[in-house]
Amino acid sequence: MNPTDLPQDGTGPLLDVRALRKVYTGRGRSVEAVRDLTFAVGAGELVCVVGPSGAGKTTLLKCIAGLLPPTSGDLVLEGAPVQGPPPGMAVVFQEYGRSLFPWMTVQQNVELPLKQKKSLTRPRRQELVRDALAAVGLGDVPGAYPWQLSGGMQQRVALARAVAYEPHILLMDEPFAAVDAQTRADLEDLVRSLWQRLGVTILFVTHDIDEAVYLGQRVLVLSGSPTVVLDDVAIDLPAERDQLGTRSSARFGELRAQVFGQIQRAKRGWSASAGQQSRAEEDAAGPEPTDSPVGTR
Ligand code: ADP
Ligand code: MG
Repeated sequence: MNPTDLPQDGTGPLLDVRALRKVYTGRGRSVEAVRDLTFAVGAGELVCVVGPSGAGKTTLLKCIAGLLPPTSGDLVLEGAPVQGPPPGMAVVFQEYGRSLFPWMTVQQNVELPLKQKKSLTRPRRQELVRDALAAVGLGDVPGAYPWQLSGGMQQRVALARAVAYEPHILLMDEPFAAVDAQTRADLEDLVRSLWQRLGVTILFVTHDIDEAVYLGQRVLVLSGSPTVVLDDVAIDLPAERDQLGTRSSARFGELRAQVFGQIQRAKRGWSASAGQQSRAEEDAAGPEPTDSPVGTR
């Protein structure tokens, strides 16, 4: 599917990323983290972005969140260019340990961003906090401090904080990479149920192919750095998913193989060009081992 050809009811995509490039410069050297990313996300979609570590996923999210200026390209959210943190956006970062304030209770952490919304009365704020904590299964710990909670619970608090803010779009940067497998599975299901219930648009970044296929309606496959979009895969799994049934289905296996294959092919291409050796030269030289550990820096 062409990512720019989404059905949009004539209103245009919610998020439009065009020819995004980001080069970090400083201390006499430059790193081209993102070379050329173009894609669009429609209102209400759940889109996963998958790519190897160092592919520029965090860089991409920081640019979309208005925290980092792109070197070139255009970012348009809800029809307006992104020039700073957009009001209708919430972000959940990977490092829950650093994203919550340890001296504030769970309730205070979730309420804090709502204080920026001057139109909200105090009772309405408290209602939003209560509902969000209940939605993530933490209705009974509003008075606890983050450091009294497990990693998975802390990430639930971060999720509740994002949900309470009632964002139009929610960005998530490898939010479950640091929790154990069972907790991670529960949190993935929580994300899908929140998405289905709230109708929020989600852009979910991960390095985990299985997680991307399990969660997404679409998966954008990124190459290693310097990064481009390799593929935009429509995930035609049923809307109701469950960890055991979905992940063991034949279609799930096909989709994950498709994404995995794209990344492997990109790695091989990258490895060949990094070694100043074209695929044609490699072929002519015979079946040399080509599994050198490059391509995912
Ligand atoms: P990912 O999130 O996919 O792991 P990042 O966006 O964190 O990737 O990083 C992409 C590339 O940009 C990496 O090579 C990384 O070292 C580099 N990079 C990230 N942040 C900075 C920075 N502030 N200054 C210089 N280089 C950076
Ligand atoms: Mg990252």
